[in-house]
Amino acid sequence: MEKNKSIGCIVSECKYHAQEQNYCTLDQIQVVKHEGHAESKQCTDCGSFELGRQ
Ligand code: SF4
Repeated sequence: MEKNKSIGCIVSECKYHAQEQNYCTLDQIQVVKHEGHAESKQCTDCGSFELGRQ
């Protein structure tokens, strides 16, 4: 899959990760929060993550 140079990502466990380079291969991702009110980056996640090959 082609990397998206606008979306850097180090989550190599994700099936959309470009693997040899630290980019996402999706055209677009959804960034989400898992707290009612986000106050730090630890409160945010990639909502488009899907587990890839182990
Ligand atoms: S979907 Fe999210 S976690 Fe997965 S490679 Fe793309 S940016 Fe990273």
